[in-house]
Amino acid sequence: MASIRLLLAALLAVGASACAAVPPPAPLAQASVEARAPVTILVSIDGFRPDYLDRGVTPNLTALASTGVRAAMRPSFPSKTFPNHWTLVTGLRPDRTGIVANKMEDSQRPGEVFDMQTDDPFWWSEAEPVWVTAEKAGIRTATMFWPGSNVAVGGIRAKEWPNDITGGTRPEDWQQFNIQVNGTQRVNAVLDWLRRPASIRPQFVTLYFDTVDTAGHHFGPGDARTTAAVGEVDAAIGQLVRGLAGMGQPANLVVVADHGMAETSQDRTIPIDRIADPADYRLIEATTYVSLAAVPGHEAALEASLLKPHDHLTCWRKADIPARFHYGTNPRVPPYFCLADTGWVVVKTASARMSDRGNHGYDNMAPEMAALFIASGPAIRAAGTLPSFDNVDVAPLVSDLIGLPRATGLDGDDTSFQGILIRNRGK
Ligand code: AMP
Ligand code: ZN
Ligand code: ZN
Repeated sequence: MASIRLLLAALLAVGASACAAVPPPAPLAQASVEARAPVTILVSIDGFRPDYLDRGVTPNLTALASTGVRAAMRPSFPSKTFPNHWTLVTGLRPDRTGIVANKMEDSQRPGEVFDMQTDDPFWWSEAEPVWVTAEKAGIRTATMFWPGSNVAVGGIRAKEWPNDITGGTRPEDWQQFNIQVNGTQRVNAVLDWLRRPASIRPQFVTLYFDTVDTAGHHFGPGDARTTAAVGEVDAAIGQLVRGLAGMGQPANLVVVADHGMAETSQDRTIPIDRIADPADYRLIEATTYVSLAAVPGHEAALEASLLKPHDHLTCWRKADIPARFHYGTNPRVPPYFCLADTGWVVVKTASARMSDRGNHGYDNMAPEMAALFIASGPAIRAAGTLPSFDNVDVAPLVSDLIGLPRATGLDGDDTSFQGILIRNRGK
């Protein structure tokens, strides 16, 4: 027994002297966790009205707002998805970005129609999105969906098959939009990008969710199923925040929506063929507004029927669209434009059925069109609810957070955020 004790003592002594000779390993946390610079993440939750935050199903978004700021942001006109997403990343209103609607025509491209699948840079190159500015400045970017983020902005697409694109700038990493990729997968893709070594890790990332908008259209903004969609996206935001914390990645998060959502009904439809004679016009878009061109030679007949007062619909020549909409100078805005009262929808014919219970595209000042805004992170002071501002201010804020030089000639600026930005805590 005594010999065993001696042996143990000897072994301990050897161990102790060995420990004394070799410096103790650094604590794991210090040895393996790199001090990461903050990443800027711009998140869009399509069709998320700011009052959805008050439904008791958004613990993660509410927590972000409580450590930063929130606001009811004004979308740009028209309050549709593609125009507003392009405005959010360019700081220019739709009239100046060239993305003036979800569906458009251009006289330089006769017979062609832009829709939400169009990725020809021709349509997208009137304005520069913030990821292009960043890439040009040597700042790596990645987009987990965003309208236009699959476009080589500034490039030229060959007219002949296989329509190769020459030139232009895309985010270093981008994904072709696919509605089947669920929220969890989108968040995981962002987290995977951020797990990369610093040399190939993005410093600016976008993330886009569509399900709140889809539910809002199908069920209406007040429906429990829309609230459920809000809760699901909030859970994905929670997954993002926890994932970032887990890898020690600080992030300045800017969470926005492109527009809100208003209740619609089959009882509130406006058949455009009852307003004007279909022989006089060619319809470009009929939704919460209608855009039209006159059949050549029928201008006077169309104006006579269109430009008089109508119930729940106001029509203008494009040059007469009220200045507050900042809309109508772009050649892509069709010659005639009619806007429905909020909650009313224009349909092609009286027999058309309209199953949607919600829509957007209305007056951008309508309270129902207000859009979510939350910003939180090391560069943002906790300051509660900000006064409302126009969504053209988001791109200048994001540029500040990324550390890009101040852009000039934009429709928006960062003055709304002066009191809340902690300089040098972005990039
Ligand atoms: P809206 O018709 O204005 O309600 O547009 C919303 C829809 O746009 C979403 O439900 C998506 O299906 C679609 N969408 C969003 N992002 C993209 C994209 N990058 N490419 C194609 N479609 C998109
Ligand atoms: Zn939208
Ligand atoms: Zn929508």
